[in-house]
Amino acid sequence: MIKVYNTQTRSKQELVPLEPGRIRMYVCGPTVYNYIHIGNARTFVSFDMIRRYLMWRGLDVTFVQNVTDVDDKIIKKANEEHCSASDVAATYTKAFIDDMHAMGVLDPDVRPRATTEIPAMIDLVQRLIDTDHAYVSEGDVYFSVRSFAEYGKLSHRNIDDMESGHRDLRADGVAGMDERKHDSLDFAVWKAAKPEEPSWDSPWGAGRPGWHIECSAMSKKYLGLPFDIHGGGADLVFPHHENEIAQSEAAYGTTFTNYWLHSGMLRINSEKMSKSLGNFLLLRDVLATTSPDVLRMLMMQTHYRSPLDFSQDRLDEAAAALGRITSLIERINWLDAHASSAVAVLDSADIQARCKALRSSFVEAMDDDFNTAAALGAIFGFVSEINTLLSDVEPSQNDHASLIAVRDLIVELMGVFGIDAGASSDDNAYPVEVVACAAEVAGYEGDNPQAAVDALLACRADARAHKDFALSDRVRDELGKLGFKIEDTAQGAHVTFEG
Ligand code: AMP
Ligand code: ZN
Repeated sequence: MIKVYNTQTRSKQELVPLEPGRIRMYVCGPTVYNYIHIGNARTFVSFDMIRRYLMWRGLDVTFVQNVTDVDDKIIKKANEEHCSASDVAATYTKAFIDDMHAMGVLDPDVRPRATTEIPAMIDLVQRLIDTDHAYVSEGDVYFSVRSFAEYGKLSHRNIDDMESGHRDLRADGVAGMDERKHDSLDFAVWKAAKPEEPSWDSPWGAGRPGWHIECSAMSKKYLGLPFDIHGGGADLVFPHHENEIAQSEAAYGTTFTNYWLHSGMLRINSEKMSKSLGNFLLLRDVLATTSPDVLRMLMMQTHYRSPLDFSQDRLDEAAAALGRITSLIERINWLDAHASSAVAVLDSADIQARCKALRSSFVEAMDDDFNTAAALGAIFGFVSEINTLLSDVEPSQNDHASLIAVRDLIVELMGVFGIDAGASSDDNAYPVEVVACAAEVAGYEGDNPQAAVDALLACRADARAHKDFALSDRVRDELGKLGFKIEDTAQGAHVTFEG
């Protein structure tokens, strides 16, 4: 039974899909006025992990994520850069999608953009006006917060306490009551056009949608109401998600979504990473020197709802932790390719039992509100058990099936975190530099790193057979410079990565 923590009920609840076997989920996307930072990435990776786990558990997941491509921040950036708001949005939408691909985040099933969904938003605003939940004022349209009795139910705020803390500013940017609103709590669902700003025709004159209305319109259009899961970063609970509920439930008279899931903030020096504080690291800059698998590993080591403190030290620890997993996979791959003796030395029934135990610990941890840290703990325990077994014996070809089962299980479970443990080991095993090294030392003529290493080992074996120790030492030294060590074993020489 999968349990999820629902922000609205403040408790873990069994996840019961509205339609058996199917989950419909919506996760708020970015406002595209800059490259995303690793805090934004943490939220998107968290929901990617949740989606992958639900799929792995056999659920058919429909995932919708919007792109906010019209907004004050985009217009401001366009003015600063002397280009159009649509140019800014196009540039950073593409950059966002490229960044998500670089991070291995699965594409949503639908990625609606605000600017191409204006008719759905106009329909929703009209419905709110028709049902007296919104009113027109000088070309703007405002949602009347007090018309929705349950306002505050997600963020657990009392409507009468909100008055002073409300963040809305007057149109001229000065804090205080905007005279166009009937009540200071009311928020814009449609904004009258200003000169030089993008706008669309509407029954209330030219204008553009408010931010919150976008998600209400798009989730209804692509998922229908109610849908199962709504997600986003914890900083969106108020006012964004509170306003989404108010708009959707007021307009359609039905529950908006069944479970509200929120990911914790990524912090740097105990402070939330944000564009406004200026303490951000762009995802693309971090990925220039770190593999996406290592960054994901760092993220998965902390529960998705907890704050995550980012530091270079923690990134290095994550790399070392991932290395423990990929080293075992490399070791198995090597044994698989080289082991020769005919007698099986591993107890295959015992290995099968260990695999089964890992699978059930993994499910138990992940069913408990996606506890990736505990699930990883189970994987690490298993990896060290297998390493211990392997250090006591010299496995043979007849252990093939047990070892491949171990490798495939690890790769499968790490895949739920979006980490390709199999590919990481291949990448780490032999850098392309070995090709040049083999060309120079062993006369190798191809371009395959694995074949290059094999050529170097063959050259070394040949040199030793001819007592040309200068050459055999040179092979060892050149591989050493690339971080590799040659080990001579009963099955022949092989190369391990020393770092
Ligand atoms: P924005 O483009 O600012 O709307 O942010 C896109 C997503 O990133 C939202 O779901 C935010 O909640 C999330 N987000 C922003 N800052 C952080 C952070 N420091 N840690 C985690 N998520 C964040
Ligand atoms: Zn939203």
